[in-house]
Amino acid sequence: MPDFHSFRVEAVILRHNDYGEADRMLTLYTAQLGKTRALVKGARKITSRKAGHLEPFTQVKLQLAKGRDLPLVTQADTVETFLPLRENLMLTSQASYIIELLDRFTYEDGSENSSIFRLLTDTLSRLAAGASPWLVTRYYEMRLLDYLGFRPQLFQCANCRREILPEDQYFSFSAGGVICPTCGRGLPRLKPISTETLKYLRHFQRSTYAAASRAQPATEVQAEAESLMQGYFTFLLERELNTPGFLKKIKS
Ligand SMILES: [Zn+2]
Repeated sequence: MPDFHSFRVEAVILRHNDYGEADRMLTLYTAQLGKTRALVKGARKITSRKAGHLEPFTQVKLQLAKGRDLPLVTQADTVETFLPLRENLMLTSQASYIIELLDRFTYEDGSENSSIFRLLTDTLSRLAAGASPWLVTRYYEMRLLDYLGFRPQLFQCANCRREILPEDQYFSFSAGGVICPTCGRGLPRLKPISTETLKYLRHFQRSTYAAASRAQPATEVQAEAESLMQGYFTFLLERELNTPGFLKKIKS
């Protein structure tokens, strides 16, 4: 947290927790400071007018003041409530996944990342506007991997660097990309990936959302892409958690 007396941020509320007797602690993703936390004093008192709209998924503008342990919220204005994400259980769980993925892969290091902030608000808007949750979520995952520095290699074999041909291939979580059938015979712990699924993942990796949103993959392709991406995120998270640098960042 930089040294400041009063600071204005644009934020999405990732989660909140009770803090002390009557306060609430917000975990935020902001355009200006990346992930950060802030306290809302007296938020749990019935008379608090500040706390009502400080729910998860909400996009807000906050005035923060320097506090003893954490910055204090002195003013809060709602920018977008994304109401459909609260009213539809399926959308609520999808939005929770989007938020949780970001929460687990970022730490409070005070670094500005307006690209991730924009990706987050765009993704919540698309979900709330009724776009296909599968498409919105896969596009989000692919962009997030880019911004986090884990862009998967989908055009060359991640082992021998030869160009990937239109045939069924493998995917390696540890190599971070596609493995050609020749290399695939000798390597452990690979996931099969069909030509069709690879086609969509490549499309999402290099297209704008407008272009990607025209994709209509078959149900089995959707299932394969979803399981592959979730496996890759799980692998990355476990590896990061075992990295001393990552633990140091979390503890600081
Ligand atoms: Zn190869």
